[in-house]
Amino acid sequence: MLKVENIKKKFVKLTKKKEHVEFYANNGISLEAHDGEIIGILGPNGAGKTTLLRIIAGILEPTSGSIFFDNLNYHDNETEIKKNIAYLSGNTKIYNTLSCYELLHMCADIYDVEKSDAEKRIMEIAKILNMESFLYNRIGSLSTGQTQRVNIARCLIHNPKYYILDEATSGLDIISSQIILNFIKDEKKKGKTILYSTHYMEEAENICDKVIMINKGIIIAEGSPDKIKKQTNTTNLRDAFFKLIEGDTNEE
Ligand code: ADP
Ligand code: MG
Repeated sequence: MLKVENIKKKFVKLTKKKEHVEFYANNGISLEAHDGEIIGILGPNGAGKTTLLRIIAGILEPTSGSIFFDNLNYHDNETEIKKNIAYLSGNTKIYNTLSCYELLHMCADIYDVEKSDAEKRIMEIAKILNMESFLYNRIGSLSTGQTQRVNIARCLIHNPKYYILDEATSGLDIISSQIILNFIKDEKKKGKTILYSTHYMEEAENICDKVIMINKGIIIAEGSPDKIKKQTNTTNLRDAFFKLIEGDTNEE
């Protein structure tokens, strides 16, 4: 189980008058994710989703608060935790001159996966992410949707238990995003825990067991999509979001 307790992250921004002003990109975020759950982190651009996922993935230190993966924390068990997580960053650049197959072998090496296991695992992932038709092609020659699938594949090579996926389907065509969403649903069935950020509310509504809606670093609603719709007396999460922020549409 993943436990996120009261995470705060302070950044500094510059005002028009060139003054440095501190603000909280995450301001007291707590959540729990159980085995086999898909949790959607929802919110508009700038809400604090990426900051939260980077902290959960152990890439960014929170200003305060704690993270536990199966009762382990980064302070005492960083390597152990990192062996168990996949982190898909929102803006990754990958090696254009390698083939997907070469890149996946390289990632397997980094994670110390045995050569024979790596080969098996690459074939398995290539199959579930529909990558077989372009597996031996150079990454530079792939479409955006294909590249994103390679990106996902490379963080799964070590067979982690926790998936932390930042905007996995952002900007993709419907076929590529459907392949990724089906993949997420299948992984859930295997008992994996998936944290998944998106600004596509309808998409989250379809696949998430639970959503955490954030705005300006604060949780404004959480629970199953049905629960949030009932609470806000709306028929979809998009309307629920607007009702929850009540006309406060200023980006901050
Ligand atoms: P989201 O992923 O929901 O779009 P982010 O977590 O990327 O939001 O950003 C939340 C806020 O924190 C934004 O206002 C962004 O400009 C700010 N921010 C993110 N990273 C930094 C940083 N390293 N330094 C200063 N401000 C940052
Ligand atoms: Mg983001």
